[in-house]
Amino acid sequence: MASTRRTFIARSAAGAALLALGEAPAATAGTRLPAAWLSELRGAVRGRVLAPGAAGYDAARFVFNRRFDAIRPPAVVQARDAADVIAVVRWAGRHDVRLVSRSGGHGYNGNSTSASAVVVDVGALDHVSLAGTTATIGPGARILETYAKLAAHGLTVPAGSCPSVAVGGLVLGGGMGLAGRALGLTIDRVSSFDAVTADGVRRRVDAHHDEDLFWALRGGGGSFAIVTAVRLRTHRVASGAWFRVTYPAASRDAALAAWDTLAPGAPPELTAILTLTSTGASAFGQYLGSEAALRRLVAPLAQAPGASLSAGSAGYLALQRRWAGCTEGSVGACATIPRDTFDASSIYVSHKLTGAGRRDFLAAADTGATLICDAYGGAINHVHPGSTAFVHRSARFSVQIVAYAALATARSRVGRARKLIALHGDGEAYQNYPDPDQTGALRAYYGGNLKRLQRVKVAVDPDDRFHVAQGISA
Ligand SMILES: Cc1cc2nc3c(=O)[nH]c(=O)nc-3n(C[C@H](O)[C@H](O)[C@H](O)COP(=O)(O)OP(=O)(O)OC[C@H]3O[C@@H](n4cnc5c(N)ncnc54)[C@H](O)[C@@H]3O)c2cc1C
Repeated sequence: MASTRRTFIARSAAGAALLALGEAPAATAGTRLPAAWLSELRGAVRGRVLAPGAAGYDAARFVFNRRFDAIRPPAVVQARDAADVIAVVRWAGRHDVRLVSRSGGHGYNGNSTSASAVVVDVGALDHVSLAGTTATIGPGARILETYAKLAAHGLTVPAGSCPSVAVGGLVLGGGMGLAGRALGLTIDRVSSFDAVTADGVRRRVDAHHDEDLFWALRGGGGSFAIVTAVRLRTHRVASGAWFRVTYPAASRDAALAAWDTLAPGAPPELTAILTLTSTGASAFGQYLGSEAALRRLVAPLAQAPGASLSAGSAGYLALQRRWAGCTEGSVGACATIPRDTFDASSIYVSHKLTGAGRRDFLAAADTGATLICDAYGGAINHVHPGSTAFVHRSARFSVQIVAYAALATARSRVGRARKLIALHGDGEAYQNYPDPDQTGALRAYYGGNLKRLQRVKVAVDPDDRFHVAQGISA
């Protein structure tokens, strides 16, 4: 048994080394599980257990980023319910097999697949229900579908804008979206989790039960337990206003200066994002108030030469569909966006940029990478950095550096862009945009919360059952 475990770890290290080099390995094959273990697993769960060679194995193993297509997990278990999750964890404990959880498969760094750990896919746990104003949401629920189900009751939760990201991964790393400055991060609305811990026990985890684990799950990622449900305090909302300003390339500096002046300190009802590319810029955002008030508020963003402002108001679900880039068709269809190859990284900025800083940002966009700046402040920064595992509570904004291209090109663009702007950051990075090339990744993702996270890990998962790329290990 121990030798199997060691083999798993060795193969995992080889895969990780290749990925750190930015190479998509031709095939990162995992160790095959003994047939007897597989048949025991199949007998223990109601969901499908897909091992190499099984029909459907490839479809089951792929994650959103095609960069990780060569990784071949020893098995993928498609859990049907929490009982399946408990059964897998107990089985893994008996055989000393590592596990990695997956909800929507959108993790940037391949953290929901592995050549060495069995994937527990909880994508089918996608229920959304309401008790009063508290929503109970399965980890597999996709963001847009969650917005739609809550909007039917005039309610929402703050979350991201990508329709196919799942609540599971999003909430474990933070959850930033266009209601962020008004309502906080997704984690800031969590009242409890249901989670299966490494001992195979399903627990209700909240401020009064397993408090350390409750703290760690709010921002600390998938290294601690498998979440089977999350309860979120909803917010009543019917509609909101939106704006968008586009800029030609020559006005990018003015756009960045105006956005940096306005967005991080704006009234919290406004969350505004700026994107910079080599050919231009755009600012857009959501305001929980009237269109007229929004137009007054963002007027300074429309002063740059060539700037073109549009604004409007809409029902709240229509607004979320706008941000999802999917105003037509069924909500379900919106959540099936094609997989792609990309590289990404992030920094946090805590000070207003100087002119030299802005020049570095433009040079970074000129590499071909896109820079997406999310304004923080407002409700996000009202939470103490130690209150949850999400430490980034004093940033003015985050910058996501992203390139969709063949891996070598994407990685070169992101690496060069990052180098140009890193000196303007505060050393931290968003754990939901994890970057395999990030040096000192854990310190960047968790800062002063890292030590407590490591203590919680040792307490709840001393055997490192839940092993996540760039995660917390025992
Ligand atoms: C196109 C795109 C757009 C995005 N937009 C936003 C955005 O607007 N705002 C934002 O904040 N983020 C955004 N993200 C980042 C996103 O929040 C993270 O990638 C998130 O981790 C994805 O969650 P997932 O469940 O889909 O991914 P997965 O790959 O399934 O999981 C990601 C991580 O969480 C762990 N995990 C997943 N489910 C569980 C579970 N049930 N129990 C324990 N651990 C679990 C996994 O092991 C893995 O480490 C975006 C990502 C993409 C690809």
